[in-house]
Amino acid sequence: MRKVLNFINGEYCEGTQGQWLDSINPGTEEKIADVVNSTEEDARLAIDAAANALSAWKSKSPERRAKYLRDMAAILKDRLDELALIESQDNGKPLSVAKTVDIPRAAVNLQFFADAICQFGQEAYHMPNAVNYTRRDPLGVVSCISPWNLPLYLFTWKIAPALAAGNCVVGKPSEVTPITASLMGEIANEAGLPKGVLNIIHGEGHRLGDELVKNPHIKGISFTGSTATGKILSQLAAPEFKKVSLEMGGKNATIIFEDCDYDKALNGALRAGFSNQGQICLCGSRILVHESLYERLKSDLIEKVSALRVGDPMDEKTQQGAVVSKAHFEKIMSCIETAKSEGGIILTGGERYGDKGYFIKPTLIEGLPMSCQTNQKEIFGPVATIQPFKSEEEAIELANSTDYGLAFNVWSENSSRTHRVAKALDSGIVWVNTWMLRDLRTPFGGVKDSGVGREGGLDALRFFTEAKNICIQY
Ligand code: ADP
Repeated sequence: MRKVLNFINGEYCEGTQGQWLDSINPGTEEKIADVVNSTEEDARLAIDAAANALSAWKSKSPERRAKYLRDMAAILKDRLDELALIESQDNGKPLSVAKTVDIPRAAVNLQFFADAICQFGQEAYHMPNAVNYTRRDPLGVVSCISPWNLPLYLFTWKIAPALAAGNCVVGKPSEVTPITASLMGEIANEAGLPKGVLNIIHGEGHRLGDELVKNPHIKGISFTGSTATGKILSQLAAPEFKKVSLEMGGKNATIIFEDCDYDKALNGALRAGFSNQGQICLCGSRILVHESLYERLKSDLIEKVSALRVGDPMDEKTQQGAVVSKAHFEKIMSCIETAKSEGGIILTGGERYGDKGYFIKPTLIEGLPMSCQTNQKEIFGPVATIQPFKSEEEAIELANSTDYGLAFNVWSENSSRTHRVAKALDSGIVWVNTWMLRDLRTPFGGVKDSGVGREGGLDALRFFTEAKNICIQY
């Protein structure tokens, strides 16, 4: 049985208390690994290793740090097939998706921030008799806490800018899908990354939050996960005045206007609703359609959703794999029951697929008001609701009427309307006539309960550095 060990100071080690968790393949329900369930003491060891490595790491030139990241990206690409297979087994997503999306993007994250740090300029402001310039120095030791939906993709999305900017990292991947991230230790060693610069600890997050936030060496916390955990982390961080970046839940709307390109909108709603089994914080789980198109779009969408091929993640033709775990499967199924009890009509799906593995038939529901739980709480599964609207104003009001504000997608060929609606939406990201089109230089994150701060491009490098203004009079 594979053992997922902590990676501290360049070496793999068991937890100090010898406690373990099981990692389960959600497609087969079989155990695939024993995972260290770390204690605060393990977290302290990792933080101490990072603190010891800091001075040498931050004094390296950006070009030198970038070279390590590029080498790590190259090794990661060489191991693409192996990593994709593990990602699919650990997470339940189709192997084809892990191969074409997750793992390639993990390599791109490392390359992107290697390039970005070499181009990271700093401001200067001139006064009549003085000049101000800004230094942006690394924060120090940072915690990078990542979730299970895009395991290596989001782990590297955090560690890459942190390392590039000169910080030492304690990474904490999700205990539900820890394997690919754990292999970053091997990759770092092969690339010759100095010991202690990247440390990776595993285990249940709630046991580690205190140490990963409050330890005096920790100067910043970058987190992606649920809004509930984000709230805990900000409560821990606030009295310590620690810098936090929180990327949390979403309850995004797909808004389809009567003047859309119909086929594009239909396919967009399908992709936005069900990609990665609906387990992306950017998924459009509330589909709002102008009343003039509603019946047509609904029936075409039912056809498309029910035609999605659910099943064995190893099969190349599979479009929908398993959801990540038994607990998550049960949560999604109970959300479907809640939708029914709220008066929702299941248009397609609504039940388990097969009798082995945590597969759920993609589910489309209508007949629910925006105020109900189903339309307010994040389900994070292959479940979307569909609802008509009468006017642009109503569409905006419905879209904005949740506690979340991450990523909306708008479908219309009227360019004035798209600008007007994009401006009026309370969210960090708006996609117009597309979904999930990513330029890594753009600010990425949400408003309201979806997030604090922005990742991506310069925002990430600014987050992982502290600005110091130096004013020189002459
Ligand atoms: P989800 O509910 O989607 O699994 P979580 O927010 O629980 O999302 O998990 C996201 C990441 O946060 C995981 O790496 C998890 O271990 C970690 N985590 C969960 N609870 C805490 C906590 N109290 N402190 C620190 N990290 C946590």
